[in-house]
Amino acid sequence: MCYAYDATRRFFMPGAVVFPQNSDQVSKILALASENGIPVTPRGAGSGMSGGSVAVKEGLVMVMTGLGRILAVDADNFTATVQPGVITGVFQKAVAEQGLFYPPDPSSADFSTLGGNLAECAGGPRAVKYGVTRDYVLGLEVVLPYGEIIRTGVKTAKGVVGYDLTRLIIGSEGTLGVITEITLRLLARPEEVRTLSAEFDSMDKAARAVAAVMRSGITPCALEYMDKNAISCVKSYQDAGLSEEAEALLLIEADGTPEQAREAVDRIAGVLKENGAAKIETAQTAEEVQRLWKARKAVSPALYTYGPDKINEDIVIPRSRLPEMVEKIRVLGEKTGLTMVSFGHAGDGNIHFNVMYDSSRPEQAVAARKAVEEVFGYTLELGGTISGEHGVGIAKAPYMNREISPEALSLMRRIKKAFDPAGILNPGKMLM
Ligand SMILES: Cc1cc2nc3c(=O)[nH]c(=O)nc-3n(C[C@H](O)[C@H](O)[C@H](O)COP(=O)(O)OP(=O)(O)OC[C@H]3O[C@@H](n4cnc5c(N)ncnc54)[C@H](O)[C@@H]3O)c2cc1C
Repeated sequence: MCYAYDATRRFFMPGAVVFPQNSDQVSKILALASENGIPVTPRGAGSGMSGGSVAVKEGLVMVMTGLGRILAVDADNFTATVQPGVITGVFQKAVAEQGLFYPPDPSSADFSTLGGNLAECAGGPRAVKYGVTRDYVLGLEVVLPYGEIIRTGVKTAKGVVGYDLTRLIIGSEGTLGVITEITLRLLARPEEVRTLSAEFDSMDKAARAVAAVMRSGITPCALEYMDKNAISCVKSYQDAGLSEEAEALLLIEADGTPEQAREAVDRIAGVLKENGAAKIETAQTAEEVQRLWKARKAVSPALYTYGPDKINEDIVIPRSRLPEMVEKIRVLGEKTGLTMVSFGHAGDGNIHFNVMYDSSRPEQAVAARKAVEEVFGYTLELGGTISGEHGVGIAKAPYMNREISPEALSLMRRIKKAFDPAGILNPGKMLM
């Protein structure tokens, strides 16, 4: 049962669950599945937000946590070789102990796996400065659906020989091959990170402040935001020290040497003030950092104070268009009477947009779905994309053709066919 759902709360009972312990076992299982036409759904921790790891066509769920070892950390060459079942946060801590830094930091890092992060090309707060998972992958070992084991990419800092199969596999959501080994690029750990929060009396001012910070020449290593509804639900869920008047919140971090980090937050605070921040607080201790993050981290669980069900999207727009998007969502909320909650990674224009509803009331479910479709429409009009980091899976598969042209979709189908002629690997996902 626990392998029948993911964070989308959609249930599909698999025929069986397999737990391979090495690449050879993955290879044998896939070869057998291809010969017999049995669907195989790779799975990491099942924390995905788009239904990628659920077995919509039954068959096998292949749980990858048995390949859970950090194989090598090469501090001289700033690389590490890992198996896909390693938990992201465990890996971050292991390299930090050697003075190294693995920047991708999905908020699910305490439980998500590196294999799942690669398959979805996970992002997170630090993407605004450091980029996303694909920017840290040098090479892979991948098992193809007929059981062939291939290596892609390099273990060196650069490499351009042949097509970039590494990048093709990253973000392919387990539809092209099963990742069994990963070579990652690391950085030197920043000496210091400083954190500040800023409250605003309007979401519009906060959205404009985001653009002003990014234009100021300082690149924060996190620039998160919460809208009025996100703040209200957190307030009713727990005491996170937010003011009564706060209508929008920005949470910002800067890193570097102690002097660089301090100077950066001082300059950012100045920009926020110029752009109408009502209250700015800079953390002075580790406890204060935790307190400032408490509100942002509480949003996901607190959302359910608004209703039993939610549709959770993760659109991205050019960040200069954030004020327009904020206004469109506000008007849509008024028009539909549905509660809409936005929060997320404002620094890279990535909005986690949630529509709350009650699925026992069919008219609300229909209205919520329609509202999401309208937001997808605005997103594409503003030059954005319908998913920044959660992937397509089953959740966004019906909308692929709104963003991707028929010609490009047809090429994607041909690529899928070349990798997986029998169509056994994660069927029913992305391209349906
Ligand atoms: C509270 C919460 C916060 C989150 N915050 C973020 C965030 O900040 N940023 C972000 O990007 N995401 C976030 N997520 C989404 C999710 O955690 C990520 O998508 C994560 O990368 C999924 O990892 P997983 O191990 O759980 O993979 P799963 O959900 O098990 O699988 C995800 C996809 O990867 C495929 N897959 C898994 N392992 C392999 C493998 N070895 N080879 C090939 N394919 C494989 C699966 O088939 C599936 O398509 C969050 C989720 C939750 C619940």
